[in-house]
Amino acid sequence: MVLRMIVGLVLTVAALAVAGRRVWWLRRLAFSGQPAPERLAFAREHPGTDAEAQLTEVVGQRKLLQWTVPGMAHAATFWGFIVLVLTIIEVYGSLFQRTFSIPGIGQWAAIGFIEDLFAVGVLCGIVTFTIIRIRNNPHKEGRRSRFFGSHTRAAWVVLSMISAVIITLLVYRGAQENTGVFPYEGDGAWPFASWLVGKALHPLGYGVNSVLEVVFILANLAVIMAFLVIVVYSKHLHIGLAPLNIMFSRRPNALGPLEPMRSNGKVLDFEEADPDTDVFGIGKIEDMTWKGLLDLGTCTECGRCQSKCPAWATDKPLSPKQIILDLRDHAFAKAPYLLATEEGREHLPADVLAEAGRPLVGTLEENGVIDPEALWACTNCGACVNECPVDIEHIDHINGMRRHQVLVESAFPTEATGMLNNLERRGNPWGMAEDRRADWITELDFEVPVLDGRIPDDVEYLYWVGCAGALEDRAKKATKAIAELLHVAGVKFAVLGPAEACTGDPARRLGNEFVFQMLAQQNVETLNEAGVGAGTGKKVIASCPHCFNTISREYPQLGGDYEVIHHTQLLARLVEEGKLTPVNPVDEKITYHDPCFLGRHNKVYTPPRQIIDAVPGTRAEEMHRCKGNGFCCGAGGARMWLEERTGTRINNNRIDEALALNPDTVSTACPYCMVMLGDAVNAKKASGEAKESLEVIDVAQLLVRSVRLREERGEETKA
Ligand code: SF4
Ligand code: SF4
Repeated sequence: MVLRMIVGLVLTVAALAVAGRRVWWLRRLAFSGQPAPERLAFAREHPGTDAEAQLTEVVGQRKLLQWTVPGMAHAATFWGFIVLVLTIIEVYGSLFQRTFSIPGIGQWAAIGFIEDLFAVGVLCGIVTFTIIRIRNNPHKEGRRSRFFGSHTRAAWVVLSMISAVIITLLVYRGAQENTGVFPYEGDGAWPFASWLVGKALHPLGYGVNSVLEVVFILANLAVIMAFLVIVVYSKHLHIGLAPLNIMFSRRPNALGPLEPMRSNGKVLDFEEADPDTDVFGIGKIEDMTWKGLLDLGTCTECGRCQSKCPAWATDKPLSPKQIILDLRDHAFAKAPYLLATEEGREHLPADVLAEAGRPLVGTLEENGVIDPEALWACTNCGACVNECPVDIEHIDHINGMRRHQVLVESAFPTEATGMLNNLERRGNPWGMAEDRRADWITELDFEVPVLDGRIPDDVEYLYWVGCAGALEDRAKKATKAIAELLHVAGVKFAVLGPAEACTGDPARRLGNEFVFQMLAQQNVETLNEAGVGAGTGKKVIASCPHCFNTISREYPQLGGDYEVIHHTQLLARLVEEGKLTPVNPVDEKITYHDPCFLGRHNKVYTPPRQIIDAVPGTRAEEMHRCKGNGFCCGAGGARMWLEERTGTRINNNRIDEALALNPDTVSTACPYCMVMLGDAVNAKKASGEAKESLEVIDVAQLLVRSVRLREERGEETKA
């Protein structure tokens, strides 16, 4: 007994010392980042939100279970380890008393059964993971494997360690059955797995079983301690960090608005910013906040984000997983430099100093950590954030680096220069004259009031048309359809016309926070002067999901607070209330493309589908990648104004999926998507891959073709 006690305790103390040292080092590394007081404040002020997130994301394994087979395997392993804490207590107890049982519950047959059930569950999980990893072998599957780029060797070591924990556990429990010290012996077969192992070991006799009992108790303890050390030195850090990362992540998630630009824990004021002391985006790894660095340590390398990334799917160098792993590897390699004093840095080894000197964003020749081509390939579609089971905030990190590249280095794709200049000069990305914003109104056969001052009392809605909706020919058709439907339904609305400017979304997503703030402040002023702020009873209709997202969720960062509704939400409601009655049949097969900034970022999935379903004669068919699993059109993240030089085109990939359903119409609810998908369809028509009659239209255009008034007038649609 004394020997087993000494060996067990020495093992434990040694492992805890090694692991504890590493944990302290990790803590110091995390806090070498920028402060993030807003995260601490939110967690403090919303304990209920955090408790809910812990219950659903950590305990409930919500996101993991969206992938049924790997999700079940992970849940079985995770829940198994929670239950098996009981067996760890038993192991430690048995170091001091051979017949130890947990006081109170330690002899209940049900506890023995549950322990064995979860031990077997963990083994089943490990077998499933093994099969998944063999089938998704990155060496054979290449980029198609979600494990491509992950540290697979470490994963195999951990799978072996977990198996060893369970095997040693079952062997010592089986031996305990035979030596008569098993706490659950009264009910024989309830701890069924231990009982079966005990049956197999029984012929070896009492003496051998006594030896097996002590050897495997110590082996179990040794494996658990070794596992603890491996966890804190490997990607399995997520076991400890995931609950923390989820606790401090943005709520409800890191989709929708971008974070305001912060420096030293405060929102950056460009007018008072000091280039010597302020931080402009992420230019060095230590410019990330501690929460950003926590993200890096938490990544499980599961590759779910990578498998859904449209840039990765079209052979671009961007993988959201690889961005996180490259930043993490760099942070760890630079850590001795970050944690050293000024004096101490002079004596660091050459490889650490070389790592510290690497540009965060730079080409292979420049020895950069992140390839600029990967950085600029992101469409901000949100698929990675949506998928990540540990709530990593990829878009914030990507846009943080973009901000630094644009504002400090002036290093961004040259083709964006024109768009940024146009935004500054004319308030729209095409540089068209401001008064052209009202041209579409002259093409209607009814009046649309253009505001000149405050919105009248009897007008409920301000229709925010957006740059594309006002100036781009295809998007203008949707704008006219929306206006016509509102007019038919008797909805009183007005527009801003030339007083409207770009919301600033393309500038912000490109990283030019300065231009964004300039446009956003101007628009907030205009909207406030128009008297449409929240609480006034007035609402803003946005037909562009990017405008919708920016005005409703980003303008509050600048003091603008508005009730914003997307046109599909309003139109679906008008149909439901009988104010719009689609009666003319549209005998077409229609597939709907979810715009990322309407669907994934803002969770508006149902209204556009309700509109399609309300039109008689339509046959709606979903693409495989739809709703939360939708696939980007390629325009977000300011990609609309950038060349797509590498890999295949994202819009073509999306249209290929639509064409597989042989639809008559591809419908959507975003002017960006209309343009991107329209271009892809035109290219497919030119190559003979799509039928000439195939259209890409907004759901409003579909609805306007079917409403009663139009039939009564006997007019052809202009939309
Ligand atoms: S936001 Fe979309 S494009 Fe950007 S990294 Fe994530 S999945 Fe890829
Ligand atoms: S970032 Fe999230 S989804 Fe991507 S590999 Fe890491 S843990 Fe998995």
